[in-house]
Amino acid sequence: MPNSQFFPPNKFIKKFLEKFWERPNSLVPSLLFWGEKSTGKTTTAYYFAQALLCSKSPKVWGGCGKCDSCQMFRKNVHPDLLIVKSENSEHNTISIKDIRGDEEQEGVINFLSYHPQLSSYRVVIIEESERMTLEAQNAFLKTLEEPNPYAVIILISHHPQKLLPTILSRVISLRFTRVSTAAIKKYLMKQFSLPEKEAENIAVESGGRIGEAIRLTDKSYQKERESKKKILKDILSQPFFQQSIIIEKIIKESQENPSNLNELLTLWLRMLIKNKKFVLAKMIFQAYETINSSNVNKQLLLENILLQYKYELSRNN
Ligand SMILES: [Zn+2]
Repeated sequence: MPNSQFFPPNKFIKKFLEKFWERPNSLVPSLLFWGEKSTGKTTTAYYFAQALLCSKSPKVWGGCGKCDSCQMFRKNVHPDLLIVKSENSEHNTISIKDIRGDEEQEGVINFLSYHPQLSSYRVVIIEESERMTLEAQNAFLKTLEEPNPYAVIILISHHPQKLLPTILSRVISLRFTRVSTAAIKKYLMKQFSLPEKEAENIAVESGGRIGEAIRLTDKSYQKERESKKKILKDILSQPFFQQSIIIEKIIKESQENPSNLNELLTLWLRMLIKNKKFVLAKMIFQAYETINSSNVNKQLLLENILLQYKYELSRNN
Protein backbone atom coordinates (compact mmCIF):
# COMPACT_ATOMS: atom_id res chain seq x y z
CA MET A 1 0.00 0.00 0.00
CA PRO A 2 1.28 3.47 -0.83
CA ASN A 3 2.12 6.31 1.50
CA SER A 4 -0.51 7.41 3.97
CA GLN A 5 -0.49 11.11 3.09
CA PHE A 6 -2.23 10.77 -0.23
CA PHE A 7 -5.36 12.44 -1.54
CA PRO A 8 -6.17 13.27 -5.16
CA PRO A 9 -4.81 16.69 -6.14
CA ASN A 10 -7.83 17.38 -8.31
CA LYS A 11 -10.14 19.38 -6.02
CA PHE A 12 -13.33 18.33 -7.77
CA ILE A 13 -12.53 14.61 -7.50
CA LYS A 14 -11.44 15.00 -3.89
CA LYS A 15 -14.62 16.82 -2.86
CA PHE A 16 -16.85 14.52 -4.90
CA LEU A 17 -15.52 11.39 -3.21
CA GLU A 18 -15.42 12.87 0.27
CA LYS A 19 -19.15 13.53 -0.01
CA PHE A 20 -19.76 9.81 0.53
CA TRP A 21 -18.17 10.01 3.98
CA GLU A 22 -20.37 12.78 5.22
CA ARG A 23 -23.36 10.56 5.93
CA PRO A 24 -22.66 7.14 7.39
CA ASN A 25 -23.44 4.21 5.09
CA SER A 26 -24.48 6.40 2.19
CA LEU A 27 -24.91 4.68 -1.17
CA VAL A 28 -21.84 4.89 -3.38
CA PRO A 29 -22.53 4.72 -7.12
CA SER A 30 -20.34 2.58 -9.36
CA LEU A 31 -17.34 4.63 -10.38
CA LEU A 32 -14.91 4.75 -13.26
CA PHE A 33 -11.53 6.40 -12.67
CA TRP A 34 -10.05 7.06 -16.08
CA GLY A 35 -7.21 9.04 -17.58
CA GLU A 36 -3.61 8.54 -18.64
CA LYS A 37 -1.15 6.43 -16.67
CA SER A 38 0.34 7.61 -13.37
CA THR A 39 -2.24 10.33 -12.78
CA GLY A 40 -3.26 8.84 -9.42
CA LYS A 41 -6.28 6.68 -10.37
CA THR A 42 -5.27 3.49 -8.58
CA THR A 43 -3.81 5.25 -5.56
CA THR A 44 -6.99 7.30 -5.19
CA ALA A 45 -9.08 4.12 -5.43
CA TYR A 46 -7.08 2.41 -2.67
CA TYR A 47 -7.15 5.40 -0.35
CA PHE A 48 -10.83 5.98 -0.95
CA ALA A 49 -11.58 2.30 -0.32
CA GLN A 50 -9.55 2.24 2.87
CA ALA A 51 -11.37 5.32 4.14
CA LEU A 52 -14.76 3.77 3.38
CA LEU A 53 -13.86 0.55 5.16
CA CYS A 54 -12.16 2.24 8.16
CA SER A 55 -14.23 1.99 11.33
CA LYS A 56 -13.18 5.38 12.79
CA SER A 57 -14.92 8.64 12.10
CA PRO A 58 -14.62 11.33 10.90
CA LYS A 59 -13.16 9.64 7.85
CA VAL A 60 -9.83 10.59 6.36
CA TRP A 61 -8.10 9.56 3.13
CA GLY A 62 -6.44 6.20 3.63
CA GLY A 63 -8.31 5.57 6.90
CA CYS A 64 -7.04 5.94 10.45
CA GLY A 65 -4.37 3.27 9.87
CA LYS A 66 -4.96 1.85 13.36
CA CYS A 67 -8.34 0.08 13.49
CA ASP A 68 -8.68 -3.63 12.65
CA SER A 69 -10.10 -2.76 9.26
CA CYS A 70 -7.15 -0.52 8.34
CA GLN A 71 -4.63 -3.08 9.61
CA MET A 72 -6.17 -5.81 7.47
CA PHE A 73 -6.40 -3.49 4.50
CA ARG A 74 -2.68 -2.74 4.74
CA LYS A 75 -1.86 -6.43 4.93
CA ASN A 76 -4.02 -7.01 1.87
CA VAL A 77 -6.29 -9.45 3.71
CA HIS A 78 -9.40 -7.31 4.23
CA PRO A 79 -12.48 -9.56 3.91
CA ASP A 80 -14.55 -6.74 2.36
CA LEU A 81 -12.06 -5.79 -0.32
CA LEU A 82 -11.60 -7.53 -3.65
CA ILE A 83 -8.96 -6.37 -6.10
CA VAL A 84 -9.18 -7.74 -9.60
CA LYS A 85 -6.10 -7.52 -11.81
CA SER A 86 -5.24 -9.02 -15.15
CA GLU A 87 -1.63 -9.78 -14.33
CA ASN A 88 -2.28 -13.20 -12.81
CA SER A 89 -3.91 -14.54 -15.92
CA GLU A 90 -2.33 -16.32 -18.86
CA HIS A 91 -3.32 -13.85 -21.55
CA ASN A 92 -3.19 -10.74 -19.41
CA THR A 93 -6.97 -10.46 -19.51
CA ILE A 94 -9.70 -10.36 -16.92
CA SER A 95 -11.79 -13.42 -17.64
CA ILE A 96 -15.39 -14.38 -16.97
CA LYS A 97 -14.07 -16.56 -14.14
CA ASP A 98 -12.57 -13.46 -12.49
CA ILE A 99 -16.01 -11.85 -12.67
CA ARG A 100 -18.20 -14.79 -11.71
CA GLY A 101 -15.85 -16.65 -9.44
CA ASP A 102 -16.23 -20.30 -8.54
CA GLU A 103 -15.53 -22.63 -5.64
CA GLU A 104 -11.79 -22.09 -5.72
CA GLN A 105 -11.61 -18.48 -6.83
CA GLU A 106 -13.33 -15.38 -5.53
CA GLY A 107 -14.94 -13.43 -8.37
CA VAL A 108 -16.78 -10.11 -8.37
CA ILE A 109 -20.25 -11.65 -8.44
CA ASN A 110 -19.81 -14.20 -5.65
CA PHE A 111 -17.84 -11.68 -3.59
CA LEU A 112 -20.70 -9.17 -3.78
CA SER A 113 -23.31 -11.80 -2.97
CA TYR A 114 -22.10 -11.83 0.66
CA HIS A 115 -22.83 -9.10 3.17
CA PRO A 116 -19.94 -7.06 4.54
CA GLN A 117 -17.99 -8.95 7.21
CA LEU A 118 -16.15 -6.19 9.00
CA SER A 119 -17.33 -2.87 7.56
CA SER A 120 -20.48 -1.41 6.04
CA TYR A 121 -19.31 -1.90 2.46
CA ARG A 122 -17.98 -4.55 0.11
CA VAL A 123 -15.47 -2.85 -2.18
CA VAL A 124 -14.38 -4.15 -5.58
CA ILE A 125 -11.53 -2.45 -7.44
CA ILE A 126 -10.95 -3.60 -11.01
CA GLU A 127 -7.56 -2.41 -12.22
CA GLU A 128 -7.02 -1.99 -15.98
CA SER A 129 -10.70 -2.81 -16.39
CA GLU A 130 -10.42 -2.53 -20.18
CA ARG A 131 -8.70 -5.91 -20.01
CA MET A 132 -12.03 -7.58 -19.23
CA THR A 133 -12.92 -9.88 -22.10
CA LEU A 134 -16.22 -9.24 -23.85
CA GLU A 135 -17.69 -12.23 -22.05
CA ALA A 136 -16.45 -10.88 -18.73
CA GLN A 137 -17.86 -7.41 -19.45
CA ASN A 138 -21.26 -8.87 -20.25
CA ALA A 139 -21.28 -10.90 -17.04
CA PHE A 140 -20.14 -7.87 -15.09
CA LEU A 141 -22.91 -5.74 -16.57
CA LYS A 142 -25.56 -7.59 -14.57
CA THR A 143 -23.83 -6.63 -11.33
CA LEU A 144 -23.83 -3.00 -12.40
CA GLU A 145 -27.51 -3.14 -13.29
CA GLU A 146 -28.63 -4.33 -9.87
CA PRO A 147 -25.94 -3.42 -7.37
CA ASN A 148 -26.34 -4.38 -3.71
CA PRO A 149 -26.72 -1.34 -1.46
CA TYR A 150 -23.41 -2.13 0.26
CA ALA A 151 -21.48 -2.65 -2.99
CA VAL A 152 -18.80 -0.18 -4.02
CA ILE A 153 -17.42 -0.85 -7.49
CA ILE A 154 -14.46 1.11 -8.81
CA LEU A 155 -13.27 0.52 -12.35
CA ILE A 156 -9.87 1.87 -13.31
CA SER A 157 -8.88 2.37 -16.91
CA HIS A 158 -6.64 4.36 -19.20
CA HIS A 159 -8.52 2.96 -22.22
CA PRO A 160 -12.20 3.39 -21.26
CA GLN A 161 -13.20 3.33 -24.93
CA LYS A 162 -12.57 -0.42 -24.78
CA LEU A 163 -15.38 -0.85 -22.27
CA LEU A 164 -18.92 -1.60 -23.46
CA PRO A 165 -21.09 1.53 -23.83
CA THR A 166 -23.62 -0.21 -21.59
CA ILE A 167 -20.99 -0.36 -18.84
CA LEU A 168 -19.96 3.25 -19.37
CA SER A 169 -23.56 4.41 -19.11
CA ARG A 170 -23.93 2.82 -15.69
CA VAL A 171 -20.95 4.35 -13.95
CA ILE A 172 -19.99 7.82 -12.85
CA SER A 173 -16.82 8.70 -14.72
CA LEU A 174 -14.13 10.74 -13.04
CA ARG A 175 -11.32 11.86 -15.29
CA PHE A 176 -7.81 12.03 -13.84
CA THR A 177 -5.50 14.47 -15.59
CA ARG A 178 -2.04 15.88 -15.24
CA VAL A 179 -1.78 18.85 -12.93
CA SER A 180 0.66 21.76 -13.08
CA THR A 181 4.18 21.15 -11.84
CA ALA A 182 3.67 24.09 -9.44
CA ALA A 183 0.70 22.25 -7.90
CA ILE A 184 2.72 19.04 -7.57
CA LYS A 185 5.61 20.90 -6.01
CA LYS A 186 3.28 22.46 -3.43
CA TYR A 187 1.65 19.10 -2.77
CA LEU A 188 4.99 17.33 -2.20
CA MET A 189 6.24 20.06 0.14
CA LYS A 190 3.06 19.94 2.18
CA GLN A 191 2.18 16.24 2.18
CA PHE A 192 5.68 14.76 2.10
CA SER A 193 7.56 17.59 3.86
CA LEU A 194 10.09 17.69 1.03
CA PRO A 195 12.51 20.61 0.80
CA GLU A 196 11.59 23.08 -1.95
CA LYS A 197 14.38 22.20 -4.38
CA GLU A 198 13.77 18.46 -4.18
CA ALA A 199 10.01 18.94 -4.56
CA GLU A 200 10.60 21.07 -7.62
CA ASN A 201 12.93 18.54 -9.25
CA ILE A 202 10.47 15.72 -8.70
CA ALA A 203 7.57 17.85 -9.93
CA VAL A 204 9.39 18.62 -13.20
CA GLU A 205 10.53 15.03 -13.60
CA SER A 206 6.97 13.75 -13.08
CA GLY A 207 5.62 15.79 -15.97
CA GLY A 208 2.57 16.72 -13.89
CA ARG A 209 1.55 13.15 -13.11
CA ILE A 210 0.90 12.81 -9.41
CA GLY A 211 1.29 9.03 -9.38
CA GLU A 212 4.74 9.33 -10.90
CA ALA A 213 5.67 12.16 -8.52
CA ILE A 214 4.78 10.03 -5.51
CA ARG A 215 6.75 7.09 -6.86
CA LEU A 216 9.70 9.44 -7.36
CA THR A 217 9.68 10.35 -3.66
CA ASP A 218 10.84 6.78 -3.13
CA LYS A 219 14.64 6.73 -3.35
CA SER A 220 14.85 3.11 -4.57
CA TYR A 221 12.43 3.93 -7.38
CA GLN A 222 14.60 6.92 -8.31
CA LYS A 223 17.64 4.66 -8.43
CA GLU A 224 15.83 2.15 -10.62
CA ARG A 225 14.81 4.94 -12.96
CA GLU A 226 18.36 6.21 -13.21
CA SER A 227 19.57 2.74 -14.14
CA LYS A 228 16.82 2.49 -16.80
CA LYS A 229 17.95 5.82 -18.22
CA LYS A 230 21.45 4.44 -18.44
CA ILE A 231 20.22 1.31 -20.23
CA LEU A 232 18.36 3.50 -22.70
CA LYS A 233 21.43 5.67 -23.37
CA ASP A 234 23.50 2.51 -23.86
CA ILE A 235 21.05 1.12 -26.38
CA LEU A 236 20.90 4.34 -28.37
CA SER A 237 24.70 4.62 -28.63
CA GLN A 238 25.25 1.08 -29.96
CA PRO A 239 25.59 0.03 -33.60
CA PHE A 240 22.43 -1.46 -35.07
CA PHE A 241 23.32 -5.15 -34.82
CA GLN A 242 24.08 -4.70 -31.11
CA GLN A 243 20.82 -2.86 -30.56
CA SER A 244 18.99 -5.72 -32.14
CA ILE A 245 20.50 -8.17 -29.65
CA ILE A 246 19.74 -5.93 -26.66
CA ILE A 247 16.15 -5.47 -27.80
CA GLU A 248 15.67 -9.20 -28.11
CA LYS A 249 16.84 -9.60 -24.53
CA ILE A 250 14.56 -6.84 -23.24
CA ILE A 251 11.54 -8.27 -25.06
CA LYS A 252 12.24 -11.67 -23.56
CA GLU A 253 12.46 -10.19 -20.08
CA SER A 254 9.33 -8.14 -20.59
CA GLN A 255 7.30 -11.30 -21.15
CA GLU A 256 7.47 -11.76 -17.40
CA ASN A 257 7.21 -8.12 -16.53
CA PRO A 258 5.57 -6.09 -19.34
CA SER A 259 6.07 -2.83 -17.48
CA ASN A 260 9.86 -3.02 -18.09
CA LEU A 261 9.52 -2.39 -21.79
CA ASN A 262 6.78 0.17 -21.23
CA GLU A 263 8.92 2.12 -18.79
CA LEU A 264 11.81 2.15 -21.20
CA LEU A 265 9.60 3.45 -24.01
CA THR A 266 8.11 6.07 -21.69
CA LEU A 267 11.58 7.26 -20.71
CA TRP A 268 12.58 7.47 -24.34
CA LEU A 269 9.41 9.34 -25.19
CA ARG A 270 9.98 11.89 -22.44
CA MET A 271 13.62 12.34 -23.42
CA LEU A 272 12.54 13.13 -26.99
CA ILE A 273 9.87 15.57 -25.85
CA LYS A 274 12.38 17.28 -23.60
CA ASN A 275 14.71 17.67 -26.60
CA LYS A 276 11.81 18.91 -28.75
CA LYS A 277 12.09 15.98 -31.17
CA PHE A 278 8.35 15.77 -31.68
CA VAL A 279 8.28 13.67 -34.88
CA LEU A 280 10.29 10.94 -33.20
CA ALA A 281 8.28 11.30 -30.01
CA LYS A 282 5.07 10.73 -31.92
CA MET A 283 6.56 7.58 -33.42
CA ILE A 284 7.50 6.20 -30.01
CA PHE A 285 4.08 7.05 -28.68
CA GLN A 286 2.40 5.15 -31.51
CA ALA A 287 4.72 2.20 -30.97
CA TYR A 288 3.85 2.20 -27.29
CA GLU A 289 0.15 2.11 -28.07
CA THR A 290 0.58 -0.61 -30.70
CA ILE A 291 2.68 -2.81 -28.42
CA ASN A 292 0.10 -2.53 -25.67
CA SER A 293 -2.98 -3.10 -27.75
CA SER A 294 -2.09 -5.73 -30.36
CA ASN A 295 0.02 -8.77 -31.03
CA VAL A 296 2.51 -6.93 -33.19
CA ASN A 297 6.04 -8.27 -33.73
CA LYS A 298 7.80 -6.16 -31.10
CA GLN A 299 11.30 -6.93 -32.31
CA LEU A 300 10.56 -5.73 -35.84
CA LEU A 301 8.67 -2.70 -34.64
CA LEU A 302 11.43 -1.57 -32.29
CA GLU A 303 14.18 -2.23 -34.82
CA ASN A 304 12.30 -0.10 -37.30
CA ILE A 305 12.01 2.70 -34.80
CA LEU A 306 15.70 2.58 -33.99
CA LEU A 307 16.55 2.81 -37.69
CA GLN A 308 14.15 5.68 -38.09
CA TYR A 309 15.64 7.32 -35.01
CA LYS A 310 19.16 7.11 -36.48
CA TYR A 311 17.91 8.44 -39.79
CA GLU A 312 16.08 11.40 -38.23
CA LEU A 313 19.04 12.31 -36.06
CA SER A 314 21.47 12.24 -38.98
CA ARG A 315 19.08 14.36 -41.01
CA ASN A 316 18.78 16.97 -38.28
CA ASN A 317 22.49 17.23 -37.58
ZN1 LIG B 1 -9.20 2.73 10.37
